[in-house]
Amino acid sequence: DAQALQEVQAQLQARQIDVVRLGYSDLVGTERGKDLLVRRFARTAGDGVAFCRSVYGTSPRGDVIDIEGGLSAGLPDMLAVPDLATVRDIPWEPGAAHVIADLFDPGGGPSEESPRHVLRRVIKRFEALGMRPMVGPELEFFVLEQSPAGWRRYGDGPGHVYTAGRRGDPDNLLLDWLRRLDPYGLEVVAANHEFASGQFEINLWHSDALDAADRTFRFRTAVQELARMGGRRATFMAKPFNDEGGSGFHVHFSCWPPDGEPLFDDPAGDDGLSGIARSAVAGILAHAPALTALLNPTINSYKRFGPGTLAPWLIDWGLDNRSAMVRIPPERGRAARLELRLGDASANPYVGIAAVLAAAFLGLRDKLEPPAQLEGYGYDVTKADRLPTDLPTALAALEADTELIELLGPRFVAAFLAYKRNELERFAQWVTDWEFREYAQHQ
Ligand code: GLU
Ligand code: MG
Ligand code: MG
Repeated sequence: DAQALQEVQAQLQARQIDVVRLGYSDLVGTERGKDLLVRRFARTAGDGVAFCRSVYGTSPRGDVIDIEGGLSAGLPDMLAVPDLATVRDIPWEPGAAHVIADLFDPGGGPSEESPRHVLRRVIKRFEALGMRPMVGPELEFFVLEQSPAGWRRYGDGPGHVYTAGRRGDPDNLLLDWLRRLDPYGLEVVAANHEFASGQFEINLWHSDALDAADRTFRFRTAVQELARMGGRRATFMAKPFNDEGGSGFHVHFSCWPPDGEPLFDDPAGDDGLSGIARSAVAGILAHAPALTALLNPTINSYKRFGPGTLAPWLIDWGLDNRSAMVRIPPERGRAARLELRLGDASANPYVGIAAVLAAAFLGLRDKLEPPAQLEGYGYDVTKADRLPTDLPTALAALEADTELIELLGPRFVAAFLAYKRNELERFAQWVTDWEFREYAQHQ
């Protein structure tokens, strides 16, 4: 409301903040937004800041895609309303703050295609069951640097997981970024070198699902900004290199009551897990093919899967088993949780988290029981329960999963499918370097 906006404006001015960046997630999780002058903030944002609906129909390269209600309707307005609880000063941009916006249709209702709205919708379903979904996100990414031959992996040092210090990170970026990210309120806890050279992971502490998604969304932009400030790039592409593994977006998830002890722990239950935990796992397994469309949303995503990658291959779960799609970490009590290892770093954090929650919700609602756990290494290629092996198959599985669509919202899913099918069409027409080598160079 107007008074709250005035108050925030006054607080920003008192802290010498003169610009606020209003940001929101587009369909694929890229941040879009506008920079607003703080001294006019209350007035500018009072009725929402107008944007055209290209946010739902522009590819990362800028191609305008015709999503329903967008291009063919003349790209009408939508309104971005700042969520004032999300104002944060940007530590590396003195005098600037950031705020996350919710998107509304000019008619007044929340925009059904908005990823943040999709997540809010699913969280409401848990609230109706008297539950608070809790999420801990983990993101891996590659840092790239410019070389005479183009962008290459930063450092190119030993690709050993947990190599600490300058051997794997010549400019000590991780240490510097961890320090810079901390005052931004991202609740970062640890940073480490990953399995591949030039690949890193930074863990965020767990919290309520919307806050966790907001922090993941901000984290991605923040890391990209910090990399660019040093003339580098950070990429959350799923599998950028043929000779190295990909980047995961692992989601730790548990359910809590509004107050009191968590609902996944049960010392008397099988493996110390409650029936609620088992049903959540079962829901995720039952809806896994549709989940891949949302957690592995690019053509490139499916090249991350494969034997020996620590990315999953089968639709399975296991106790402290990193080759399973759902891993149950060894901690119990307040830390009892599941880790879904399916997603890759290219997923939209709002959509990916909403998808995990929705599948778990369906498992809880229908009191599903999971199958037997995976024992040993989860890459038995003779097993039938394979994950979808490409994006078209995953999109078809999403389109067929009417229960999941009902939870996420049919308008969102329709927009997502239209966007992704346009991507597939554009790719189908593009001659890749592999084709040139295979069919021209070596003939
Ligand atoms: N990079 C692996 C993935 O794509 C995960 C490795 C790890 O467990 O840290 O999921
Ligand atoms: Mg990792
Ligand atoms: Mg993990």
